[in-house]
Amino acid sequence: MTLARDERPDPEDSAHTVSSLWALRACELLCAFMFATALPWQQPFAWFAVIAGLGALRWWHVNRPSFKALPKPRRKRVYRIYMWVLMSYVGSSCYFLYVPGNVPMQAVLMSYLLGNATLIAVRLTGDVVRTTIALCLAVLPTSLRFIVEGAASNTLLMLMGIGGLLMTITMVFLSRAQESSVLHQYEQRRRAEAVANAVAAMGLSKSRFFAAVSHDLRQPVHAIGLYLVPLLAMAQKTQDRAAIRAVEGINQSWRALDDLLSQVLDLTRMDSGVVKADLQPTEIAPIVSSLILQHSAVAEAAGVRVVSLVRPGAWAMADGLMLIRMLSNLLDNAIKFSPQGGTVLVALRGGRKRWRLQVRDCGVGIAKGAQERIFEEFVQIDNEARDRQRGLGLGLAIAKRFALLMNGNIEVRSAPGQGCCMTITLPVARRPDEVPSAELAADRMDTVPGELLPQSGRFVPVLSMRDVLLVEDDSLVAGATQELLTSWGLRVRHVETADEAMREAAYGQLAICDARLPHSASGLDVALALRAIGKKVLLISGETNAALREAAQQHQLLLLTKPVSAPQLLSALQTL
Ligand code: ADP
Repeated sequence: MTLARDERPDPEDSAHTVSSLWALRACELLCAFMFATALPWQQPFAWFAVIAGLGALRWWHVNRPSFKALPKPRRKRVYRIYMWVLMSYVGSSCYFLYVPGNVPMQAVLMSYLLGNATLIAVRLTGDVVRTTIALCLAVLPTSLRFIVEGAASNTLLMLMGIGGLLMTITMVFLSRAQESSVLHQYEQRRRAEAVANAVAAMGLSKSRFFAAVSHDLRQPVHAIGLYLVPLLAMAQKTQDRAAIRAVEGINQSWRALDDLLSQVLDLTRMDSGVVKADLQPTEIAPIVSSLILQHSAVAEAAGVRVVSLVRPGAWAMADGLMLIRMLSNLLDNAIKFSPQGGTVLVALRGGRKRWRLQVRDCGVGIAKGAQERIFEEFVQIDNEARDRQRGLGLGLAIAKRFALLMNGNIEVRSAPGQGCCMTITLPVARRPDEVPSAELAADRMDTVPGELLPQSGRFVPVLSMRDVLLVEDDSLVAGATQELLTSWGLRVRHVETADEAMREAAYGQLAICDARLPHSASGLDVALALRAIGKKVLLISGETNAALREAAQQHQLLLLTKPVSAPQLLSALQTL
């Protein structure tokens, strides 16, 4: 492969060149000291000052950001000008450092010139014409002076001749070797850049794709979830066992789809940098207790005891919701992989700068070689058949990203057959005096994914309101929500647009409002307007949009993200 001259990488940019230039300046200073013994001392030091000054000027010039921003051909031209000036000055050294009749000093001068010429040849990689000109500039004036004035010794002249010849041969080889190595490196860099660009473009289009379909995917999943509850109620009313089994089957599939959708969307959002941790002082113990309570039914069914040794009063700087999701996943896994009769222990260590929150089990454990891989996406050990009942292999990948977003980490310690200890590290936070701890935890629990169908199979909702204004433009979602609310004994008036919502504003005590309405109207504005006339408002969004979440928090509006399960909706209505 051949490369156009101007396409070649700048030789001056390499660290190797910079260090060799420092070495050269050191040699020149040494030369100045040596010549000061045979010449008036001002002469060699003035010579050194000029050459060091030229070098410094060039260093300052080429390291300025404005110079680095220039196109490559222009940069190269400047490098060349400096090189020719320096070479000419080096070559004319014979007028400053020539000591007539002093063989050792003449030998030192010649060695210096030849060394300098070699360095230039190496930097000119493969450019034979320029190498020759540089050589002539460096060595010719002194050689001519030796010849014209008669060198101090014939031996010196002979050594010079042999040295020059060897130097030329070496330079040709060096230039060729350097040329091919530079080209090789350049080619590799170009390929790596092309691959990196392709990967970045793929990542970007993946993130864009998921951002675009996120809202549209959530809508039908959300609607199916809401339809399931009245469907089960109907099946139970008719006592039709086959229908009940079918609805429960749909429920299971819906849960799997809901899990997969939220986890994949979470991952893509984190990859595209959209997700930010909302870091607040968060008390750990109430979160652990609530999660253990939530997992108690599953643990009981698996014959596993879950014990917390987390003391109250430990505060971490964390995003409560992220911490809940991470810990929930660790408890899920610990219970899933524990043998019947086993114990899962949640403990808290550290506390000076970092907390170490540990979830230990006495289950199957993980082999050393697999321990790093379990934090990768879709990695499951011993589940080649990809049995969905055993999870998706995304929980720990998400947990790892959450931990990093919270300036913490998550690690595993385990051995096959000896259980597993997962440790979440988080920065310690000071307890905020004004926030009661139970309130903080409760505030964050409402968004934990809940069960769609309650254990008993029937809801007995306790709701103080009767009439609900539903502002939703998606007919599927509106139908499902209406059906569900009606099955809870509520009366629903459905409107589709912001204008209709304002016309029907007087209806009922409660409004459920979609965050994205037709004609670019903002559900948030409608919700605020409805609240201003004394209504209780629940905002539901199909997008996991950080700005909306912040705005809702700022206005103290209750916000749920689709897909919302029936229990989540119920608990939100009860809270209101
Ligand atoms: P999922 O549990 O949904 O499959 P995770 O990302 O949570 O996905 O876990 C990935 C894999 O790590 C699991 O499939 C399992 O092989 C392994 N793993 C996680 N936790 C444990 C544990 N406590 N004991 C043994 N293996 C575990």
